[in-house]
Amino acid sequence: MTLAAASLVDRFGRTISYLRLSVTDRCDLRCRYCMSEAMTFLPRSEVLTIEEMGTIADAFIARGVRKIRLTGGEPLVRSGFDTLARHIGRHVAARRLDELTVTTNGTRLADHAQPLVDAGVRRINVSLDTRDPDRFRHITRTGDLGKVLGGIAAAKAAGLAVKINMVALKGLNEDEIPAMVEWCGGEGFDLTLIETMPLGVVDEDRTDRYLPLDGVRRALEKRFTLEDDAHRTGGPARYVRVAETGGRLGLITPLTHNFCEGCNRMRVTVEGRLYMCLGHDDRVDLKQALREGGRAALDAAIDDALRMKPARHHFEIAGRGAAPAVARHMSVTGG
Ligand code: SAM
Repeated sequence: MTLAAASLVDRFGRTISYLRLSVTDRCDLRCRYCMSEAMTFLPRSEVLTIEEMGTIADAFIARGVRKIRLTGGEPLVRSGFDTLARHIGRHVAARRLDELTVTTNGTRLADHAQPLVDAGVRRINVSLDTRDPDRFRHITRTGDLGKVLGGIAAAKAAGLAVKINMVALKGLNEDEIPAMVEWCGGEGFDLTLIETMPLGVVDEDRTDRYLPLDGVRRALEKRFTLEDDAHRTGGPARYVRVAETGGRLGLITPLTHNFCEGCNRMRVTVEGRLYMCLGHDDRVDLKQALREGGRAALDAAIDDALRMKPARHHFEIAGRGAAPAVARHMSVTGG
């Protein structure tokens, strides 16, 4: 077997089978825990073209990646998104890839649900931190809840399995978590709760919003019967089944529980930087490799990254006013 065709096993024996590809750093919302109000976005000349993203996806699939998630920023605002989804979807049809998925804020889902299905997408994650219109506008600074709920309904009608992602925010939406569990159960959607992570400078202090999910789980257990569920999607969530609704509840706890020993992921930003860990700054420049040396250089750069993948991240919400653990916003690395 040539080096270029070798599968992606890092120095800790972890096999990389999951790629998250950020297709834009831009977003039509400004969620308070994710972005500052006045974000500076990358000039278009610095971002990968849709064709380059397709080539990078091809290279990872040839190296054994079995799942790709398109994310951002808001992936559905990127022009050419449907073309890229169809390109990668062809690998699903040919069984070279198990799954193509998308994480979206849902604002443009009404128009994109059917094209996603046509491209071969079967499951999507939609971020929804509240079902209260005023709170939604407050958290997202600009958002229209009705559009997102319309998008979710369109996705369901098109046959997509929907998982709702809700960032648990102290004092902002924690009182809504039980109602979200019930709503998702009733709609047939899985729900994943996420701890807020110290990524990028935002206008607020994250210490005020950090809500450890251990406590959320204990509170939910007073109201619901949570049964352990062995379900895994290849991502970092651990799942329980809510007996009362039949729905599945995932918990992503990067702060209270480290899950790095089973990490199977790498992330490519829209600038073509390959990050081996959400919580580290080490990266490899795939755009430069591809533009200067073509596919062989791209493969060599992926090998370099594999050698650099760290054992774990070290997130903590440091004291009040402290700088974030990682300067990059989630919208840059891709959620
Ligand atoms: N625009 C898409 C969306 O809204 O789902 C995809 C990108 S967004 C950055 C992906 C996910 O990351 C969302 O569920 C968002 O709530 C979450 N997120 C953003 N910043 C975060 C942070 N600092 N801590 C935890 N989750 C965060």
